[in-house]
Amino acid sequence: MTNPYETLGVAKNASADEIKKAYRKLARQYHPDKNQGDKEAEERFKEIQNAYDLLSDAEKREQYDRFGSTNGRGPAGPGGGGFNWSAAEGVDLGDLFGGIFGGRFGGGARQTPAQRGNDVEVQVNLSFEDALSGAEVKIPVTLEVACHTCHGSGARPGTAPKVCPQCAGRGVVAESQGFFALSQPCPRCRGNGTIIEEPCSTCRGAGRERRTKRYTVKIPAGAKNGTRIRLKGKGEAGWNGGPAGDLYVVTAVEPSKTFTRRGDDLLVDVHVPFTDAALGTTAKVPTPSGGQVSVKIPAGSEDGKLLRVRGKGAPHLKGSGHGDLIARVKIEVPKKLSKKERELLEQLKEAGA
Ligand code: ZN
Repeated sequence: MTNPYETLGVAKNASADEIKKAYRKLARQYHPDKNQGDKEAEERFKEIQNAYDLLSDAEKREQYDRFGSTNGRGPAGPGGGGFNWSAAEGVDLGDLFGGIFGGRFGGGARQTPAQRGNDVEVQVNLSFEDALSGAEVKIPVTLEVACHTCHGSGARPGTAPKVCPQCAGRGVVAESQGFFALSQPCPRCRGNGTIIEEPCSTCRGAGRERRTKRYTVKIPAGAKNGTRIRLKGKGEAGWNGGPAGDLYVVTAVEPSKTFTRRGDDLLVDVHVPFTDAALGTTAKVPTPSGGQVSVKIPAGSEDGKLLRVRGKGAPHLKGSGHGDLIARVKIEVPKKLSKKERELLEQLKEAGA
């Protein structure tokens, strides 16, 4: 076993920066592209690579400093430890292939990549009024979170996942097929690089469990049907130390009997007798806050005419202010006429209106 500090020519207390500089210089010098066919240079390059793999990883470096080796000693957390120092010395087809395909020389432990948890979407039902004024709602969400017993490791408390003995933590094994060797996911650990010998009894080794969480969510005033509110990090748990996903609360707003929403404008029908529409009048129009506003209906208004009341619509979600309230004139014609009304209408008709 070679001393990685000697390999890189750095002091035992060298900083991460010094190590990186020394490594870069040596790697350039001994790179196989520059030393075609030079076996010694290739070996040296592997050694340099291995030494840097070890010293650039704070955890591995500490373990080496303490035990003089990183092989199968000390606590082996997920992704940590398991560095196979001896692999670089023997013939390892997997490594040669790794080299050809641009991978690393030497046998560093494979780090199972950390993966972000899934985003989760939940729907929250709101009354039309609550959506306009904003509300605070409590919502239960059932999702996969890190197991509360093992905190996501999957191992029984007091134990830790171990480096897989079959692949020495790499997650892949080289399988000989005639002349070629193919790298395949390790069948023992299914590519994780670690195995759990004593699974957590709560999650049976999965590291995750389904739980119902309750969140209080502030719905902003002016929320529309389908407004998405993001709660960062409240989604499903990540894998291998990855961050949790986000929770999206999506609003489903009940329609109103009175108002129709058009963006931040609110449309409301105003029923006007045909005589008022002809002569002009002032109508009371309901506002979404529960009050009323007077709207002048000009003489000669036709059915469907739109009259805009500025700033009395829904609050803007972004920025301040409100949309408009739009009164739509609905002309009412009497279904039944009294004798007097009929006579007057007859006279009006004869007058040529
Ligand atoms: Zn567990």
